[in-house]
This record gives sequence, C-alpha cells and structure tokens, in this order.
Amino acid sequence: MTIGVVRVVGIGPGALDLMAPRALAALQQAEIIVGYRTYLNLVASCFNPKAEVLSSAMMQEVDRCRKALELAETGRDVALVCGGDPGIYAMAGLVFELAKNQGNRCRIEIIPGIAALNACAAVLGAPLMHDFAAISLSDLLTPWELIEKRLEAAASADFVTVLYNPKSKKRTSQIERAREIFLAHRAADTPVGIVHAAGREDETMQLCTLVNMLDASIGMQTTVTIGNSQTFFWENRMITPRGYAGKYSI
Ligand code: SAH
Repeated sequence: MTIGVVRVVGIGPGALDLMAPRALAALQQAEIIVGYRTYLNLVASCFNPKAEVLSSAMMQEVDRCRKALELAETGRDVALVCGGDPGIYAMAGLVFELAKNQGNRCRIEIIPGIAALNACAAVLGAPLMHDFAAISLSDLLTPWELIEKRLEAAASADFVTVLYNPKSKKRTSQIERAREIFLAHRAADTPVGIVHAAGREDETMQLCTLVNMLDASIGMQTTVTIGNSQTFFWENRMITPRGYAGKYSI
C-alpha cells in the first residue's frame, strides 16, 4: 500500500501574500484538508476544488491530528492547517507525539509559516532586535505556577517578551498578573506594543506603556509585546536597539 503524507502547514498570520510558496503548494495538492474553521476560511481560495475539507470549530486538536494521521496511513495526501507557524503553540508537536505513541506509518512534513510574533513585530517596527522570550498566558495545558515562573524569569532577565494568548472572555486575570510581574522589574513607562489580527483586514496596533497597557483592547487574536529596558518609541514605531549606538557612532 502507498504510504501517504501529513503536511502540517503554517499559513502565516492570515494575509495570503505572507504565506510561503511551499505552504501554498501543499494546500493546492492536498486531497484532504483538515483544520480549525477560522484558519481554513482565511486560505480557502487556495484549496484544490476537489479536496475534501474537514473543518470544524468543535473537533478538538487531538481528534483533528489523529484523523489526519489515520487518513495519511491509508495513502492519502493530507494537509493539516495551522495559523502562523505550525511549530509554535500549534499542532506540529502533537502530530509527532501521536505518531510516536500510536506507531502511525506515514510521512510527516512540517511547513513553516510566519508566526504571530514575526507579523506583529513588523507591524510595530523592530521590537525583537535583541534577545526575546515568547510566553503563552493560556493555562489550559500548562500549570499557571509554571507560567508565572517563566514570566518572572523573562522579566528579571530583561528579555523583550511576547505574550501569546493574552486574554479571552474567561481568562482575564492572567494578563493583569503578567503586568504586575513585569512592573516589579521594569520601569512603568516601558514601551508595550499590542497588535490585533496582524495581516488580516481588521488589523490594529496600539502603542502604550507597561503601566497603562490594561486600558488597551486585548483579546484572543492579540499579541502583546513588552519592550526591554532599552526599547523606545519613535514616530509611532516600537524599536529595541541592537547595541550599534554604543559601539559605533550612528
Ligand atoms: N501558531 C500560531 C500561534 C497560535 S496560538 C503562530 O505561530 O503565531 C494563538 C495565539 O497567537 C493568539 O491568542 C494570539 O496571541 C496569537 N496570534 C495568532 N494569530 C495572530 C495574528 N494574526 N495577530 C496577532 N496575534 C495572533
């Protein structure tokens, strides 16, 4: 029997011209396309019209990945669609974990995408020019104590910090606690950049400071970037210096 393939495809932040040609090719050639409805809607125009689409807001990640592996085992060409990059808070790791535990025999290919942190950084200017950390505030799969420990570590080590999953209707206190932790280590006027729906029609950017960041509107499709002690605003842009100014006369 022919062995099929699961391509775990990163579609980038949402704009079609921010998706890699390799991702586009995977979507065009897939016989079966599996994914979360919101992401599928963003790229539906790229699918092979004959492709079978398994979209569901309800089907959970684990079921989605299991289904993709099962179909590939029967010889099919399957694309598993992820927002941003498939290896960043998405499904690439889960596909490997399941394949390892279940002993699935199919090819697994990961196709990278522009992650929210890249897309948001470009909207903001150049906030990630020095060492940075990404921390998800979702405690669905990670104990909150561990998240707090990482926030504390990133804040105290002066990392620029990108907060993923900052807030949802049910999770509102996490972002407040994150701000409190950063305020214990960084100045109240530390620049913060908040980008919603980067690369999509409803993209918005808000620039604020650590002390007033909770006044901004923050939701599920928002990424919060907290500057380090050197980050500054200039002409409505957020910039972290790399260190050239201290070394060369610029
Ligand atoms: N794999 C994705 C991350 C999925 S986790 C990636 O590589 O970007 C979901 C979180 O990502 C959201 O809660 C939000 O914090 C962030 N996010 C995803 N797409 C975004 C976008 N277009 N603009 C801003 N933030 C986004």
